[in-house]
Amino acid sequence: ASALLEIENMEVAFMLGNKAYPALQQISFKVGEKETVGIVGESGCGKSLTSLSVMGLLPETAAITKGGMTLDGKPLASGSAQEWSGVRGKLVSMIFQNPMSALNPLMPVGKQIAEMTRTHLGVSKQEGKRLALDMMGRVGLSRVDRLYDDYPHQLSGGMMQRIMIAMALVCSPKLLIADEPTTALDVTIQAQILDLLRDMNRELGTAILFISHDLGVIREVCDRVIVMYAGYIVEDAPVGDILERPKHPYTAGLLQALPSVGKRGRPLYTIPGRVPPLADRGTGCPFAGRCPSATDLCEAVAPELTETSPDHRVRCHLYADGGRAV
Ligand code: SF4
Ligand code: MG
Repeated sequence: ASALLEIENMEVAFMLGNKAYPALQQISFKVGEKETVGIVGESGCGKSLTSLSVMGLLPETAAITKGGMTLDGKPLASGSAQEWSGVRGKLVSMIFQNPMSALNPLMPVGKQIAEMTRTHLGVSKQEGKRLALDMMGRVGLSRVDRLYDDYPHQLSGGMMQRIMIAMALVCSPKLLIADEPTTALDVTIQAQILDLLRDMNRELGTAILFISHDLGVIREVCDRVIVMYAGYIVEDAPVGDILERPKHPYTAGLLQALPSVGKRGRPLYTIPGRVPPLADRGTGCPFAGRCPSATDLCEAVAPELTETSPDHRVRCHLYADGGRAV
């Protein structure tokens, strides 16, 4: 069966003056129908840029310079507004870290959800309201008749994120992109929202592409994890494999930096160093400067993404012999 989302050898570059700086390179991955896939990495690794590409929302200074993607059998390479208008909201929708920035402060929240259905499904006012109220109930909001007429500022952060989720799901998209949706919330509310996303995946069959810097959050929601570093996919495997048998040294570092179960607060360990800036990425492995296993080969030659088993890919010279280039 063909995948819901299929990204094939995509490169995204920022244009600065007349120079192109690739910020994403050789990005290839699939998200199947109803699948939940996480993308993890530190800030600057390209995970948000990947999700913006899938939404056709790249910043003006950036463009897809190689490869492209297919969403539900529809090729989406040109990124023209017209191409995306039939897709966004309907086939794929997105929730962000800060719901306040996506909501209109001057319009009642229920009406904003109803407007989505009017725009994308072309339903009547009455039907739009019915769909909005129904979805508000499904995302766990109570007394929805009253809440329908409330304005965003009257809601708590957790309620607002539920409104955002209702807005994103009300037109039954096949894919939901969630970019750090719980990062701004406190721990209890965060757990509730993660539960809700998992429930929505099960009940509505919505596939989820979940972007986070936090592997601990991703493991709550996702079946599979893609690890990104400096604009490359460095590992892609089922979540259990990533947690128990990480292969890439960067993945191992992220895991080590994860606060252990039951312990909250700041991790004891952080990976030394930082992600190399765009203008300063050489020819070798981009992780070489921070990698405890780096050799001369790593400094000189970038490793390729290789398949070490049918559902596990890794980009590291340590595994080059045990794998097959993909
Ligand atoms: Fe480390 Fe070398 Fe693997 Fe890069 S290729 S992650 S530097 S061991
Ligand atoms: Mg981001």
